[in-house]
Amino acid sequence: MKSRILNTNIDMVTLEEATQKLNYFLENEKNHIVITPNPEIIIKANKDKELLKIINNADLVVPDGIGVVIASMFTKRKLKQRVAGIDLIINFFENLEKEITIYIFGGKDGVAEIAKKNLEKKYSKLKVVGYNNGYFDKEKEKNIIEEIKEKKPDVLLVGLGAPRQEKWINKNKDLPVKISIGVGGSIDVMSGKIKRAPDIFIKLNLEWFYRLLKEPKRIKRMGALPIFIFKVIIGEKD
Ligand code: UDP
Repeated sequence: MKSRILNTNIDMVTLEEATQKLNYFLENEKNHIVITPNPEIIIKANKDKELLKIINNADLVVPDGIGVVIASMFTKRKLKQRVAGIDLIINFFENLEKEITIYIFGGKDGVAEIAKKNLEKKYSKLKVVGYNNGYFDKEKEKNIIEEIKEKKPDVLLVGLGAPRQEKWINKNKDLPVKISIGVGGSIDVMSGKIKRAPDIFIKLNLEWFYRLLKEPKRIKRMGALPIFIFKVIIGEKD
């Protein structure tokens, strides 16, 4: 079942249910697209038809932000909990039922390489078969695509920032992978370059507040949040 938030359809899943879906996706050959929208992306999607279509055609869409969950409380179908992209990926890696291969694409130069080392050390069932930073021209992009085609990883992590990563994933949906997931800054977190908020902030759904304290200039981005909730309350359609 899906909750409809400002024209976007978000899956009403818990972290465990979303993880089960990823395991299920591994069982068939098709490339499954996974999107993790926060309020900012939902707002962007309402101004960008291409992005909206990508979200609404994805195989799994999880609410990466407490703002999305709060907004759903004003609709008929309430979301069960926040499912942050990074939590979903980590929970999936921690509970792997079989060995998988992944490709890490995104972040500044050198970051994906450290993420590979960290992930392989932590998760014995996981093998990183390739990686690349997220800064490329046409020629380099062609090589990255060729490498992914050759290595055929089970999972492709794409961290180019939103909505660039979603559009890239959609444009390359015929790649021979089973899951393509837009991960935003998660590659930075996996490399240790960026630290997440302490657990207590995450548990209390206050991760946004911690990030605001760390990076006060985020206030500008967050200004859109009350308008987002308000639009959901008044049930704005297009
Ligand atoms: N990024 C990238 N290529 C780009 C732009 C961004 O690889 O052309 C990476 C950036 O290094 C960071 C991630 O995308 O690791 C997320 O960027 P940002 O924080 O801007 O996006 P958000 O996660 O807020 O959507």
